Amino acid sequence: MPSIALVFFVGCNPKKELPKETISDSKAPKTIMAIFAHPDDETTVGPALAKYATIHDVHLVVATDGRYGINDHSGIPAGDSLVAIRKKETACACRELGINPPHFLEAKDGLGLNGKHNFYVEAADLKERIHAKIEELKPDIILTFGPDGDTGHPDHRMVGLFITEILLRENWAHTIDLYHFGWTKEQTAKFPEDWGLGNVHPNYLNTTIHFTPEEEEKAFSSMQCHESQFTKEAFSEWIAAERADTTNVLYFRKFALDNTLLDTF
Ligand SMILES: [Zn+2]
Repeated sequence: MPSIALVFFVGCNPKKELPKETISDSKAPKTIMAIFAHPDDETTVGPALAKYATIHDVHLVVATDGRYGINDHSGIPAGDSLVAIRKKETACACRELGINPPHFLEAKDGLGLNGKHNFYVEAADLKERIHAKIEELKPDIILTFGPDGDTGHPDHRMVGLFITEILLRENWAHTIDLYHFGWTKEQTAKFPEDWGLGNVHPNYLNTTIHFTPEEEEKAFSSMQCHESQFTKEAFSEWIAAERADTTNVLYFRKFALDNTLLDTF
């Protein structure tokens, strides 16, 4: 019996129906590795992590240390002191979600694209660390950003690309289920426009994760650990926007490969 439950998506065009899957309804525990660019990016999928924390072994891997993520309200300068605070905030976030303590790969945010470091050196180092972390955790499932990178941040896009590159290079893409997170356009409307959120057409978001109000509350508690990044007002507005959306779903796109051999396009 397949471990993945199929339900059918009904879009505007019935000819374009695609099967939708849940990540796993199986009771067999799996290892889920959620890997994102910055300490606080896990807020994007917080309710899904809280949901699966009670079923599976859920790990958050944070690619960069967030040393340049300065904000006026906190007054913390860029550098090691900010890194230390953001590590504590992320550990707090994981506790609130009920998942394992975070794994930090300690690349420097910006990955050199901000002109502060050499991109090629940063990228090569980070890819080695991601590779080692996959070998250590042996995940069944990886969650990460898609090509839109949520907010379009280059680090977000880059981490999603690195993961995909590594799975293809190492022949792991058929043994590890890779999911790219994506918003629908409708979902992005609940957030401020200046967040610059990308979106994916619903026809391509083949994985729907429903979550409960209790799981969402855990995500709210978790998000509020990131005090260096958001003001109390920002948290309140964010939570109000999420509470107003009672659909309680997050969408992902399962990365799928067709290994049929072809000799033409
Ligand atoms: Zn980020």
